[in-house]
Amino acid sequence: MSNHPIYLDCHATTPVDERVLAAMLPYFTEKFGNPSSISHVYGWEAEAAVKQTRETLAAAINATPEEIVFTSGATEANNLAIKGVAEAYFQKGQHIITIATEHSAVLDPCQYLKTLGFEITILPVKKDGIIDLTQLETAIRPETILVSVMAANNEIGVLQPLAEISAICRDRQVLFHTDAAQAIGKIPLDVEAMKIDLMSLTAHKVYGPKGIGALYVRRRNPRVQIAPQQHGGGHERGMRSGTLYTPQIVGFGKAVEIALTEQATETQRLTQLRQRLWEELSQVEKVHLNGNATQRLAGNLNISVEGVDGAALLLGLQPVMAVSSGSACSSTTTAPSHVLTALGHSEKLAYASVRFGIGRFNTQAEIDIVAKHAIATIQSLRKQATLV
Ligand SMILES: *Cc1c(COP(=O)(O)O)cnc(C)c1O
Repeated sequence: MSNHPIYLDCHATTPVDERVLAAMLPYFTEKFGNPSSISHVYGWEAEAAVKQTRETLAAAINATPEEIVFTSGATEANNLAIKGVAEAYFQKGQHIITIATEHSAVLDPCQYLKTLGFEITILPVKKDGIIDLTQLETAIRPETILVSVMAANNEIGVLQPLAEISAICRDRQVLFHTDAAQAIGKIPLDVEAMKIDLMSLTAHKVYGPKGIGALYVRRRNPRVQIAPQQHGGGHERGMRSGTLYTPQIVGFGKAVEIALTEQATETQRLTQLRQRLWEELSQVEKVHLNGNATQRLAGNLNISVEGVDGAALLLGLQPVMAVSSGSACSSTTTAPSHVLTALGHSEKLAYASVRFGIGRFNTQAEIDIVAKHAIATIQSLRKQATLV
């Protein structure tokens, strides 16, 4: 990979940690059993491995193992939570609240429910990307059944005040779902202390494999009902049928276990790398930091650059670093990022944005190369702009 650019796109995905891969490998070949096979040792081995990950995930968020439902990732977990609650509670009410900076895996299920007659309120965020709690309180109505607000944003890294949001939801007896795809293993999560009813998780943003995730579904105080969105053999207590993908589940557990063990030191290290990068970049005129400066993921830096063309900026950076731009990270559109426009940016400034996602395998030497090249690119583009 020596001729590859430096990977700084850890919000899109992360490599599988070698330790995770090693844990997974036996479950493809020797321990290949179906965890639902209860009559022989092949099944028992697989079932034991699945049980262990269930326990690891439950401990990671202070839940119980029975409250973990495995899914194919956070997209499916979000769909199951939102559509599952909508279907189970529609007689109670048909109003759902979310925020403008959510991932499309939350916004799109909400849009879909709208076509079925549900009412959706999409709250704006403050200039720093954080929810306005007063607006949330005002938006809740007697027919509101669910509030969905993400734990950590995938573009600007902003952390939402989960405990404050849930206090409002509890007070009004509304269920609270959070998409914690970017948060698991990176910030402390506690479904009891934070009073969370549903939480979406995924493995591949935290050095685990792609194609595996989970939905936490609260069983007590209150017992949350969700209508299954995939029917079949009744796996996962009927909430999500389909043979469990043992190798990926083993990898998920190992990835979260490692992330939790290393969380404190890694947060410190990443914060220092991010600050080093920002100290360099912020010396260039008219480069802005997007999102709250302190309430954010340690590895996230998102900047907007005035006076340069977004496409040219990305093109200039590409040979040296793999980063993502301020356009929507959707496979089919090149619209400006809805997250950045929600912060009040113009389309042009939203396009001229760069997300640096620093992760476990980045070094200080890499950050220095990235800073130097980014500054040179911005200055050269601005120089060209003044010449034409
Ligand atoms: C990556 C991501 C998702 C989608 O997760 P998958 O496991 O890839 O389906 C959902 N929400 C957020 C915030 C994400 O960052």
